[in-house]
Amino acid sequence: MKLSNRIENVRASSTVAFNTKANELKRQGVDVIAMTAGEPDFQPPQHVMDAARDAIDKGLTKYTPAEGTFALREQIAAKHARDNGFTPDPSEVIVGTGGKQVLYNAMQALIDPGDEAIVIAPYWVSYPAQIEVSGGTLVPVHARAEDGFVPDPADVAAAVTSKTKMIILNSPSNPTGAVYPREVVEAIVKIARDRGLWLIADDLYEYLVYDGAFTSAAPLYPEGTLTVNGASKAFALTGWRIGWGVGPQHLIKAMTRLQGQVTSGANALAQHATAAALEQHDATAAFVAECKKAYVERRDTLVTGLNGLGLKTPMPQGAFYAMADVTGIDADEGKAALKLLEEANVAVVPGTDFAAPGFVRLSYATSLENIEKALERIARVVT
Ligand code: GLU
Repeated sequence: MKLSNRIENVRASSTVAFNTKANELKRQGVDVIAMTAGEPDFQPPQHVMDAARDAIDKGLTKYTPAEGTFALREQIAAKHARDNGFTPDPSEVIVGTGGKQVLYNAMQALIDPGDEAIVIAPYWVSYPAQIEVSGGTLVPVHARAEDGFVPDPADVAAAVTSKTKMIILNSPSNPTGAVYPREVVEAIVKIARDRGLWLIADDLYEYLVYDGAFTSAAPLYPEGTLTVNGASKAFALTGWRIGWGVGPQHLIKAMTRLQGQVTSGANALAQHATAAALEQHDATAAFVAECKKAYVERRDTLVTGLNGLGLKTPMPQGAFYAMADVTGIDADEGKAALKLLEEANVAVVPGTDFAAPGFVRLSYATSLENIEKALERIARVVT
């Protein structure tokens, strides 16, 4: 029996699919090094795990408001006041099941059939899927490897048409690790503001910046920006599925209406634990600082190693991904990724769905030992 046209057109997420494949091979006993999903290998901070246990002991196990507990939304507002130079009201905050669901809610709330969404390529695989399932059209603006994958704002301006509804800004970027300089963020925000477009600032990797500095878009354009952030990456809470959105109240209310019909809200225990992570921000910051130290060492080892093997890889400034030019292995990045998997037992994500032909994405959210072993194995494929 026939499924809907809408769902027939939804592709599987390649980040999720390749990670599942790597884990399945591992389960079968194959010694695969998975550099697929962006998933920290660290355990969450102790105080956050204690808070989750505490929430169970206190019986905080019931539904929460669809938009998230007031306590967590208050902590999220305080986080933005502390770090980002603006103080949202808790009514301007929604908590969702990961940043992914918050983004999906936003696409559904903002995009009408025929609307265009400008996205900087290479881009994260779920933007096109979420835009298209909402009836919109993705308009890519290509950032070049030789520019460290930082886009030229003039290219963004040139992509605006009468149908443009939004611009998605993701710095630090998944998959490139690019951190946009302040003037680039400001120029992109200005385009959105001058043209009356929505700006989605996907700030998920805000805390994972190694060179350069993070720039918040929201204070520059509060009336038109939805900031998306979450607990997964910086706090190593991927499976707990907590993300949030901060933006104008009427947008947050619309997203909440949808969420109330779809999930009734995010997991209660994880919300309590995330509130503790934000409330005890000094302890959490110490945890993030330790992780960052490890990521820098891993990044330097990986990127130096890949370039040494002749796989050109720009130095990422943030997040925990590197994009390697694998045309030396195969002109088709899908075949190169398959070769790396089959001959080197190193799992990566081909650039195809990131709009990065000739590249693969490697996540260095894995141990230094794994990275060194992966480089040795990749060397056997390229030489
Ligand atoms: N965001 C992570 C990644 O890009 C996890 C998988 C996903 O959500 O796509 O690998």
